[in-house]
Amino acid sequence: MGNDLLDTFVECLRMFVIASDSLEETILEQFLRYRQELLDWNTRVNLTAITSPEEVLIKHFLDSLSLLSVYDRPGAHLLDIGTGAGFPGLPLKIVRPRWKVLLFEATGKKVTFLQHMIETLQLQDVVAVHGRAEELAHKAEYRASFDVVTARAVASLPTLLEYAAPFCRVGGKIILLKKGDLAEELIQGKRAAQQVGAVLEDDVAVRLPGLDDGRRLLVWEQQKLCPKQYPRNGGAMAKKPLGMER
Ligand code: SAH
Repeated sequence: MGNDLLDTFVECLRMFVIASDSLEETILEQFLRYRQELLDWNTRVNLTAITSPEEVLIKHFLDSLSLLSVYDRPGAHLLDIGTGAGFPGLPLKIVRPRWKVLLFEATGKKVTFLQHMIETLQLQDVVAVHGRAEELAHKAEYRASFDVVTARAVASLPTLLEYAAPFCRVGGKIILLKKGDLAEELIQGKRAAQQVGAVLEDDVAVRLPGLDDGRRLLVWEQQKLCPKQYPRNGGAMAKKPLGMER
């Protein structure tokens, strides 16, 4: 069972990695090392609820790489908000070494893990930043400067859009990895998007090997600069989420 899934993982990896065999081997080694460190650290630091080695391959690594099915441009500058143990940003960095990747994470211990992983895998042009998106978004160096902003399992759509849009350049994409029934959330999300200058462009189903759990990628285009007042502080966001009907 375990080896079958490893084979499946390698098959899927091949779809994303257009490179020589030796490069592909290095990439596989990097993923296996990442998995080993993740499960090892997870016994001491709360990093993930997924503890089966097979599931890490599919639900963390492949799920992260699914973003490439809707966005895959050379030299992209990507921001991952609330990356946790690195998802989806770090797997993307492993298979797209030329991308510039920034990982934002509010929990210090997770940032320590990310820094350990970046060092262990000797990755360049990827930085883990300890902080909250709603605060970092008001720093000039990060404002409107990313080609793609992503997040998985961090907040509801209105909150995610308010976090993400300020970082996105005009013409850039916000790609949110979601799961389950979104009907209500999507209505609010679309209204929130209008307020922050983004528009839903695509809604793509994701099928991972052996799973049929309604995963999808919501792709938003940043059509206008996000107004300066966003994101509001955490309290205001929680009290009055964007896109709520009054
Ligand atoms: N994206 C990862 C982690 C999801 S858990 C994955 O899919 O596996 C959500 C993570 O987001 C937590 O690690 C939490 O610390 C972080 N987080 C929540 N709100 C945040 C914020 N406003 N800014 C930065 N990180 C945040």
